[in-house]
Amino acid sequence: MSKKDYAIHWFRRDLRVAGNPALSEVWKSYDGRVVGVFCFDHKFLDRSDFGVHRFQFFLQSLKSLRDELRSIGSDLLFLDVGPSQTFPDLLQRLSSSDWGRPECISWNRDYEPFARTRDEHMKSFLDDQGIKYCEQRDHVLIEPHELEKKEGGGYQVYSPFSRQWIDLFSKPEIQERIKKKKKGIDYLTKLAEGKNEKIFSLQWKDLLDISSDQEKLLQSYIDQNQKRVSIKIPEAGSKAALYALQSFEPKLHQYQEKRDIPSIEGTSGFSNFLKNGSLTISMIIAFYDLKAFEKKDRSGEAVFFRELIWREFYYHILYRHPNVEGEAFLPKYRDLKWENDPKKFQAWKEGKTGFPIVDAGMRQLAKTGWMHNRVRMIVASFLTKDLLIDWRWGEQYFMEQLLDGDLAPNNGGWQWAASTGCDPQPYFRIFNPWSQAKKFDPEGRYVKTYVEELAKVSNECLFDPEKLKGKYIAPIVDHAIQRKKALELYKV
Ligand SMILES: Cc1cc2nc3c(=O)[nH]c(=O)nc-3n(C[C@H](O)[C@H](O)[C@H](O)COP(=O)(O)OP(=O)(O)OC[C@H]3O[C@@H](n4cnc5c(N)ncnc54)[C@H](O)[C@@H]3O)c2cc1C
Repeated sequence: MSKKDYAIHWFRRDLRVAGNPALSEVWKSYDGRVVGVFCFDHKFLDRSDFGVHRFQFFLQSLKSLRDELRSIGSDLLFLDVGPSQTFPDLLQRLSSSDWGRPECISWNRDYEPFARTRDEHMKSFLDDQGIKYCEQRDHVLIEPHELEKKEGGGYQVYSPFSRQWIDLFSKPEIQERIKKKKKGIDYLTKLAEGKNEKIFSLQWKDLLDISSDQEKLLQSYIDQNQKRVSIKIPEAGSKAALYALQSFEPKLHQYQEKRDIPSIEGTSGFSNFLKNGSLTISMIIAFYDLKAFEKKDRSGEAVFFRELIWREFYYHILYRHPNVEGEAFLPKYRDLKWENDPKKFQAWKEGKTGFPIVDAGMRQLAKTGWMHNRVRMIVASFLTKDLLIDWRWGEQYFMEQLLDGDLAPNNGGWQWAASTGCDPQPYFRIFNPWSQAKKFDPEGRYVKTYVEELAKVSNECLFDPEKLKGKYIAPIVDHAIQRKKALELYKV
């Protein structure tokens, strides 16, 4: 065996071994001689939309990944510098080791603008160094270049996008991708049962002397960040992701009836895992054996499947229109004259607007790091169309707070609610927070869970500002008046 013949897998937001395309490709090519690396990129950690809680969940996922890799014969090295320094340093150190430099470096593609630029630099650096790289699709099932209109370019409306997505989904090539994930699920099941085998055959200690500081780096990040954490961080990592898949199985067929009721756990809770790649859309599809559904199918499985396609839609939009990170998709809404009152924004963040459903949502977010999708739509509509505050303020606050904060679906969700995005809620359809609450939380269970002051208030008061007077903080705006102002604002 040539000692030079090995690969390094660069983990970014694909924090799993099961069904990891680039990792599995180099694992095959190098007969298990693959080690992992993760670098703490300070350009990323210093971003304004950094979230302490999401980072803690991410760190816990990394810890679980390292333990897993060690248990199957590989390892994960942590470095405290970005990739532009990590790889030159590492290659230099390795060139004087017995094994020499790796033959190949692998990673899975990331579609965010920041990541795309980073990866382009990495490729030219490796080309200059004469080192191979292996790049694979992972986060989406169907990549933007695979789904285009006949006349070229991508879709900007969900329905035709999803129609073509479903057509492609049925093709053997895409089904093959799902099949591969089934093997990943088998691996994961064995791992959870403690039956993992040593399928890798290279560790960092074979290659380099790892200092004890380096060995402690991940733990020191975990300990430091923990000091800033104010919520309970959910269980992270591959086994937790498998457990989430198993737990949602009996609920899947009822998804259509229950997904819009915020007081019950009717949704999957997969988004945290999807964000860092402990799960992917294709793994979910493989696990439940989901098939393409007819347009009219309203079964739980079909409706759930369509939600997964929404995620892919927003990824394609971000890829093709990276400018949505920062500006409205629709040019006519780029200069809207938002009122941007900081006091109202503060009241919204704290869940003290006087609108029970909005306050409950914002308090759920602060307390748990998650918010139900229906309520995300309500609070986003409220911020933009009742408080007349720029959607980007809300988008950023969500990123700071959400465990699942993810640029593509977050930006997509905000621009949908603010009517500035592709295929958005029409600007004149403005959610009434009182009637939304009555429709989706008729017994006030959700509201009373998060707004303790309302625990003893009778339900009929929750949906009527007149009846609620004196029993709860007064609404900071009048919905009817703000609605008219919003309609004026959007007349451009
Ligand atoms: C203003 C706003 C902001 C949002 N920000 C984010 C975000 O930062 N990260 C994020 O993952 N999702 C975001 N969403 C989409 C959606 O709210 C969450 O994906 C969902 O609530 C996550 O819970 P779940 O995994 O239980 O979802 P489920 O209902 O079980 O759905 C399964 C999966 O389908 C995808 N999905 C479901 N609904 C949507 C949707 N409307 N758009 C795109 N994908 C969807 C998600 O990946 C989700 O995990 C946002 C929506 C809005 C309206």
